[in-house]
Amino acid sequence: MTLCYLCEANDKSYFNYYCEKCQKIKRMIHLHSLERVSEILDIVLLRTRDEENQKIKVAIEEEKTKCDNTQRKLRDREKNNKSV
Ligand SMILES: [Zn+2]
Repeated sequence: MTLCYLCEANDKSYFNYYCEKCQKIKRMIHLHSLERVSEILDIVLLRTRDEENQKIKVAIEEEKTKCDNTQRKLRDREKNNKSV
């Protein structure tokens, strides 16, 4: 067994270039055309620039919240140590 030429993750049989899943993709391309399959993948899997920026903003906000929580815990710990 060797790796599939397309996904390079799954094993393929000796007589095929592609694994079962990639063979299915190949059949879809033959059935619907490369243009149509590529268009669908673009629509479904690729994010627009605005969506990317929104995701980045959310990730930054989550990190900021984590940092704020950590700082708050450290301040509380310092207060507790001083009062003891
Ligand atoms: Zn594959």
